[in-house]
Amino acid sequence: MKQLSAAEIATAVSGELYGVDPETKLSAGVVTDSREIGPGDIYIARRGESFDGIEFAAAAVEAGAALIIGESVPTLDDATLPTVLVSDATEALGQLAKHSIEALREAGEITVIAITGSVGKTTVKDLAADLLAGEAETVWPPNSYNNEVGVPLTALRAGESTRFLVLEMGARSIGNLAYLTSLVRPDIAVELAVGTAHSGVFGSIENTARAKAELVESLSAGSVAILNADDSRVSAMREVLSPGVDTLWFSQRESLPEWVTTEDSVVQGTSITTDSSGHAAFTLNLPGQEARDVRLALIGEHHVGNALASAAIAHACGVGVKSIVTTLSTSSAASRWRMELIDSPSGVTVLNDAYNANPESMRASLKTLASMGRGDEESRPRRTFAVLGEMLELGDDSISAHSDIGELVVRLNITRTIVVGEGAKPIFNAANLEGSWGNEASWVATAAEAKDLLTAELTTGDIVLFKSSRDAGLRHLGDDIAGVS
Ligand code: ATP
Ligand code: MG
Repeated sequence: MKQLSAAEIATAVSGELYGVDPETKLSAGVVTDSREIGPGDIYIARRGESFDGIEFAAAAVEAGAALIIGESVPTLDDATLPTVLVSDATEALGQLAKHSIEALREAGEITVIAITGSVGKTTVKDLAADLLAGEAETVWPPNSYNNEVGVPLTALRAGESTRFLVLEMGARSIGNLAYLTSLVRPDIAVELAVGTAHSGVFGSIENTARAKAELVESLSAGSVAILNADDSRVSAMREVLSPGVDTLWFSQRESLPEWVTTEDSVVQGTSITTDSSGHAAFTLNLPGQEARDVRLALIGEHHVGNALASAAIAHACGVGVKSIVTTLSTSSAASRWRMELIDSPSGVTVLNDAYNANPESMRASLKTLASMGRGDEESRPRRTFAVLGEMLELGDDSISAHSDIGELVVRLNITRTIVVGEGAKPIFNAANLEGSWGNEASWVATAAEAKDLLTAELTTGDIVLFKSSRDAGLRHLGDDIAGVS
């Protein structure tokens, strides 16, 4: 955070000061979890569903907090604790971030990059951060810090020497992205895809598109909108851009869609191939430059689009093609349970992608599994196992989306499919309908039963994919089979 006095902070968040000298200077961290307090930090006491942060205010001060921003004024042994009293602590967090970013903009050269889309946000955020951190001081969030708490907390980690701030932005409803962008006013905004993820939350894919468009709608002249040319709903967002906003397209088609004109700037991936270890390679075309045989360190062909989006970010920030190619071929940016590849001691290869699932990502993982099983000049074909759980938040589309996955495992010739849990059953039903496939697809109620089947059937050389939404327990089963904990 930019250094601010207590009085400036109170003004920024429209609050009143209690128990603190208005001239006190603060520049340390801002935290919402009292257990993470360090000396001199500001503690934002949010009211959650099951707890009220203000109850931990005294503990926060004892741990070193210099200021509390909360909805009441806490005391300790009859002494008033240093507090900015506000009506809504989460909004105050946002306003503080907004104030800090505005001040950094005036003082220096910070570029704010915001990434949204139904899939790939975290991957692109991590790749872009790797690409930019090699050039200049870069701040980015851990994990998926993408909401009204995570985005301002990340923005507040940017200081006077920060050159790039990379933010992931998620939309749970209409208005979310408009709010987040009003706080940080991105210079570069990236729209990855409008997919069916969380479509149950939005009601329809059109509403999802409307919610996602808020990110680029907010851009002012001189900023850059990076748009996925291959996604028609993203491409339509060119219509909502203000005059003076530059468009940079990315595409993985051999020939560009008709809405990309010859004058447009494009980052394009062509001649895409995937080898039996699951790594994709392609030719990277940047405006005016080309690099052949860019081989991604990430696993799965679907990451080509993510790599192109991050290359577009890097290009817009002035990073050269050489450096982009080197980083893409080494950055695995992998977080646990996201296409995590582990060779188990028993000779089975585990692909643990059970961090989360939606139709797009499940299709991508299954295609990767199939291409890894197919073999090539360097490796023999291998048996492929898919252990699949429920995809959550699909609303009325749930049964048909799961059935589509059942048909896909048949089409991809996955050797053995084990479907886990009631909600995922339509995968099994659809796979099972396809005649001879009855022998190779099973349905079990629990991860423990899936484990029994796997233990009995897996042998050296097999590849097994674990994929489901968060709470189906498959990520731990994957760890178990991989022999890691
Ligand atoms: P969340 O909304 O959970 O924060 P996210 O948008 O941040 O998700 P990632 O965490 O990058 O997305 O990826 C989630 C899953 O989707 C992973 O399994 C990943 O391999 C897969 N995935 C990422 N990009 C794509 C893509 N372009 N197409 C299909 N699947 C993808
Ligand atoms: Mg994420």
